[in-house]
This record gives sequence, C-alpha cells and structure tokens, in this order.
Amino acid sequence: MERIYMDNAATTRVTEPVMAAMQPYFCEVFGNPMSIHGFGREARKAVENARRQVADALKADPSEIYFTGCGTESDNWAVRGTAYAQIRKGKHLITSAIEHHAIIHTCAQLEKEGFEVTYLPVDEFGVVDLVALEKAIRPDTTLISIMSANNEVGTIQPIEEIGRIAKAHNVLFHTDAVQAIGSVEFDVKKMNIDMLSMSGHKFHAPKGVGALYIRKGVRPQRLIHGGEQERGQRAGTENVASIIGLGKAIEIATANIPRHNAEVSAVRDRLIDRILREIPYTRLNGHRTQRLPGNCNISFEFIEGESMLLGLDLKGIAASTGSACASGSLDPSHVLLAMGLPHEIAHGSLRLSLCEENTLEQADKVVDALIEVVNRLRSLSPLYDDFIAAQKANKA
Ligand code: PLP
Repeated sequence: MERIYMDNAATTRVTEPVMAAMQPYFCEVFGNPMSIHGFGREARKAVENARRQVADALKADPSEIYFTGCGTESDNWAVRGTAYAQIRKGKHLITSAIEHHAIIHTCAQLEKEGFEVTYLPVDEFGVVDLVALEKAIRPDTTLISIMSANNEVGTIQPIEEIGRIAKAHNVLFHTDAVQAIGSVEFDVKKMNIDMLSMSGHKFHAPKGVGALYIRKGVRPQRLIHGGEQERGQRAGTENVASIIGLGKAIEIATANIPRHNAEVSAVRDRLIDRILREIPYTRLNGHRTQRLPGNCNISFEFIEGESMLLGLDLKGIAASTGSACASGSLDPSHVLLAMGLPHEIAHGSLRLSLCEENTLEQADKVVDALIEVVNRLRSLSPLYDDFIAAQKANKA
C-alpha cells in the first residue's frame, strides 16, 4: 500500500540535501561553537553561515537573527520578552483569536500575571479585522502579535498593513511566521516587522530548532539565562547540526517561492475542487485565495473529524483535524469557532496539508479514499439518516 503524507503543517520530512548539509556536524565538525580552538571555530563558522542564510531569506541582517529551540520558544521570547521589557510603557498587548497555542497560552499566562490582552476577532474567512486592530491600540499597548498565516485554515493575514498600523502608532509588531516560511515572501524592513518567529521542522529542517528575527534596536527581555550564546540573549549550547539544517532548508525553501506556490497550489486546488464537487455537505474553511498554497481545510457535515482520520489512516493516508499540538483535546478548534462555525461543523473538519513532494496523482487517490470513508461514516450516522429522511419528506 502506498503511504501518502498530507500532514505537512504538523511537520515535514528532512530532505536529503538538508540531511547532507547536517551530516558532518555530528561526528566530524563536533566542536562547541563557543570554544576558541579550531574545532570550535569551524562549528562557529558554520553557525554564522546558517545565520546569514536565515537573514537573507527575510532580507534582514545576520546580527538580527537568534537561534532558538523551536517556534514555541521564539513566540514566547517575542511576546513575554516584550511584555516584560516594555512594562514601563504599559501592560497591554494585542493578538488575534486564531493564533497558535504558543501565542494564545503565552498571552493567557501574561493575563494571570496582570497584563491585559485584546484578542482581535476575525471574519468568516479567518482574516483579522484591521478596523478592530486600530481601535484596540491604546497608549499603554506595547506589542501587536499577529500570525502571518494560520496553521489550521491557512489564511494569510495582511501583514504589511498590520506593520504599517503598528508603526504609525509606535507599537512593536511580532509575527508568528512558523507556517508561512517558504510560502510568503518576507522583507522585514519593508513590512515593518519588528520580530518574526520560525520553526525549522515546518520547512524540511529537523524538529527542535527555531529562530527569532529581532530588529536592531528592539530588545525583548531574555528568557533563558546561562551562558553567553546568541550574543548573550539566549543561553544554551547551540544545536549546531540542526541550525545548519535550518539554514540550508530555508535557503532551499525561499529560493523560488512563486514557482513553489504555483506547483503546490495546483495539487491543493485539485483536492479542494474535487472534494467540494464530489462529496455533498462539505464546505471549505479559510480564504479561497489568501491562503497557504499547501492548505486544504474542509468541514464534512454529519461526521467527526477523528473518525475520518482513522478511516484515512487505515488506507495509509496521513491527515489531521487541525493543530497537531491540540490533538487529543476533544474541544472543537478555537480557530474554526472564532470564524463563526457552529460546534458540530467545527468537529467534522479535516486538514490536508501539502508540500512540494505531493502530486496530483496522490490528490486523486486521497479524494477517492475520502469518498469511501465519508460514505461509510455517513451510512452509520443516525443524524445523516434523519436529515436524508427529512429531505425526502420535504420533497414529497
Ligand atoms: N506557531 C505556529 C503557527 C505553528 O503552526 C506551530 C507548530 O505547529 C508553532 C507555532 C510551534 O512551533 P514548534 O513546533 O516549533 O514549537
């Protein structure tokens, strides 16, 4: 049985060129980059090369890039670090209702510590309300943190406009770009982005390595104390091999974004078009055009997302219902609820997330499998039976 992986928003595989770039940094170039001898200097040189690769991808300066342990750490550093560093200016932060838990739970913790947070609403497509954003800004607002693209429904936010608003009001702007790297072209200066989070495992680098861009002059308080790594701002011996992997992976991921987007969205659109056409009582979640090229999120009425996942898994297909970090929770997605979906429809949602390795043939196989799974599950659903019976009665 061919196994098909369509859960690239949860994580991606490490590709061969990335693995090859990392390989020497386990057994051969194993020095500690903080050591002053040759072994250390060699490792340091490679880390600094990776820093330049990340900076180039964002049109930033290498001195503005800090390596971290993951996207979650980058998000925590930007949000908590800014909240603490700017406490004299105020204790108010603005974010959106559809952020990843790395932001939402961090903000909730800050609220417990006496900070105030405004969670901006989104429209039915998951786009943040910019009028509400401008209205929410107060003299004591220290940070606006809005994700570049949503991990569940793939909606891309108007980042440049948010940057303009933040700048006009002299408020710092952080964006969680964990899902957007490789699909959205970033120019942090032009877009007025003060801080930007990323995570290697979303673009074919290993898990457990991330980065935070911090514009020169911005100083979120450091969260991890210890040694003087990362110019004294983030302690802990560098994860050298993974950092090299992240550098190589971002170079590949950002080399030709328009071509990547065209290729991946062709497969995505095959999925979306066929599912909506061939499976009744389905709806696309998220924006039709302002969406990540690899995201297909669809609600299926009368069935549970988890049952669909299990049915697909039996056929060798990996998908998800939403955020992998929230799986295990029986609550419907906070993202879909914020977009106004009723609970029962939010429960029946499926996310298929693609990378450039997925093909049109795979898309067709997945839709064929999905038709079987959905038909079987609906045939077992009393709700669906009642609905069909009521429809027949109405027609009669
Ligand atoms: N932010 C977003 C939008 C994500 O999708 C994720 C991971 O799914 C994270 C943050 C957390 O990144 P990491 O898994 O590297 O901690």
